[in-house]
Amino acid sequence: MNTGEGTSINGADGASPLSVEEIRDRIWLAIASRQLSPGTRLKEEELAGVFNVSRGRIRLVLKELGREGLVILQANRGAFVAAPTAEDAADVFHLRRVAETRIIRRLAETISPEGVEELRGLVMAEAEAVAAGDKSEIIRLSGAFHLRMAELLRSNFLICIMRELIARSSLVTAIYRPQHDVHCGPADHVKLLDALAARDAGRAVELMVEHIDLLESELDLSQSVRKSNDLNAIFS
Ligand SMILES: [Zn+2]
Repeated sequence: MNTGEGTSINGADGASPLSVEEIRDRIWLAIASRQLSPGTRLKEEELAGVFNVSRGRIRLVLKELGREGLVILQANRGAFVAAPTAEDAADVFHLRRVAETRIIRRLAETISPEGVEELRGLVMAEAEAVAAGDKSEIIRLSGAFHLRMAELLRSNFLICIMRELIARSSLVTAIYRPQHDVHCGPADHVKLLDALAARDAGRAVELMVEHIDLLESELDLSQSVRKSNDLNAIFS
């Protein structure tokens, strides 16, 4: 996340400006990894300077983050990192349980050997990220494992729903999980994968409920941290 190159950030080649998607991912990861706190004001002008792109591009990024519920856009006031309530957090996990038990049941009945291998690749990459202590990669890959299941069903509807639920649960987790460790991890994912590979739908559904219950149980919904951050310090 830190390029160590002053206040402007460029693409991998050091020259081309970052795309809407790349900036969106940077901000999303900053929120999910707790660098950017709920309630922080995201000023267009400041972000444009930090990422060295136009304000128009930043506006598109904020709009997209707003659609996913990570950012709240207020007329005449600007954009803020969303601050979901404890009730919102419970809603997110309830809906994940409903959506993901449906997804994994369907997938257990239809998954191909290639699909199993693809998920295995994601779990292995996640284990490597855990071993390396790479927090951004851990968050990205653990979310990717859940999203990939919907993608393997080739259902645009489920993919959209899962994208939003994963983004929102990353935010909720960032706010309400007392420890920084990321437990939505490879050990549980390996078990889910084994059940899928065995095409054991009943077991897969059971494990998914346990997995999501565990994620929810690790949240402390009695408190939230609400402080704002310096955007320059985070992204530059
Ligand atoms: Zn997980």
